[in-house]
Amino acid sequence: MIFLSHGVLLGRDLDRISHALMLDEDAYRIHLQRMKYVPLADALAGKGDALTFDDASHAAIRGALIAREHGHPVTLFVNGWHVEARAPYFPYQLSAILDYTRKDRCFLLGRNWNLTTLAEKRTLRQELKRVYMKFENWDQIVALVRTVSEELGVPKMEDGLRTVERKDLLDAAAIGVDLQNHGWTHLNPQLYSLSQLDHDIQRNRHWLHQLTGREASVYAPPFGKVGYRDTGFGENVLIARGDGEGISLANRVSLSIHSATVESAMGDATDGNSSPQVTL
Ligand SMILES: [Zn+2]
Repeated sequence: MIFLSHGVLLGRDLDRISHALMLDEDAYRIHLQRMKYVPLADALAGKGDALTFDDASHAAIRGALIAREHGHPVTLFVNGWHVEARAPYFPYQLSAILDYTRKDRCFLLGRNWNLTTLAEKRTLRQELKRVYMKFENWDQIVALVRTVSEELGVPKMEDGLRTVERKDLLDAAAIGVDLQNHGWTHLNPQLYSLSQLDHDIQRNRHWLHQLTGREASVYAPPFGKVGYRDTGFGENVLIARGDGEGISLANRVSLSIHSATVESAMGDATDGNSSPQVTL
């Protein structure tokens, strides 16, 4: 089994939409004392469970570093564009804006929204996701985030959800964190043509190689899916495609930890689509 999380935060708050995909640090540390993880390559071969984190956020790297502290192999899937552009991951941005707004209503996407309850905020968050999953370029993403930020009066995001720098990744790699491929950008890969998808994967692979000197061999798509089921790309399983060495991708299961009890749910795991709270 290959487990996936998006990061670890001290004092994870279940009432924050932006924390929905994160693990609580104290519970995570207890969890690591009880688990035995193997390297991703071994888990892909069916020899045990691997621990992985998605996105180059501070929370994700924190999760990876703590795993190393406890002696566990761990993999971090990163997008080179976000690191080079110093660009926040927009799903966290949008969630954080909704978490921190003081407004109880707003006008977005052509209609009025009530924001007095968490459920109402989640409803708007889901609608924002429906919109951004159709965006094919970054200008659209940037414009959406700016519009939401201005309408809700929230200019910034907490540090744990921010994107790390090259040095953070190099420091993590130096203590054994396995850096792998999450695509060059975090746009929805289901919208890509086959050649666009290949380009996105190979560009990030090249970037990772330049950064670390190591070859990334595993690709985990943003939002957990690629759109090609009949051309060698499975919905969640992609094996030995491309230029010789190939890229492999495995099904992953979202990892959530509640009071040191591990609960995992099969399904649309990547980027957390299996959880009703999740709105990435
Ligand atoms: Zn991601």
